[in-house]
Amino acid sequence: MEDCIFCKIIKGEIPAKKFYEDELMIIIADIAPKAKKHYLAIPKKHFKFFSEMTEEDSVMLGKCIKKVSELAPSFGLEGGFRFVVNQGDDAIQTVPHLHMHLLGGQKLSEPDYNK
Ligand code: 5GP
Ligand code: ZN
Repeated sequence: MEDCIFCKIIKGEIPAKKFYEDELMIIIADIAPKAKKHYLAIPKKHFKFFSEMTEEDSVMLGKCIKKVSELAPSFGLEGGFRFVVNQGDDAIQTVPHLHMHLLGGQKLSEPDYNK
């Protein structure tokens, strides 16, 4: 996608602190971290919603999630992590390229979703 910031990061057109890359995804540091450790695992394929996934995409995403879980301890997330995927306006998804937030490196508080 032409204007997608994450596609540009994947192509190397915008710099990012990259922690991991394979043929399916990259893992970068979030530019505005909301926890001591805040990573974004970004599949290389551009799509916005889980609802757009093909069968092939679901296999691809499963592989990404498995890899994330294998890498997490080496990323300072050995105590656990929160795995967040914002979908759509109510969730305040700001980048229309599906991505997984990994938050941790500290004891996380429970968000108050009514605020
Ligand atoms: P969303 O709100 O769509 O779930 O999450 C988008 C995330 O991308 C936000 O946490 C935001 O800080 C992060 N982000 C936005 N632009 C950039 C960027 O150019 N580089 C990096 N590393 N993160 C970004
Ligand atoms: Zn994209």
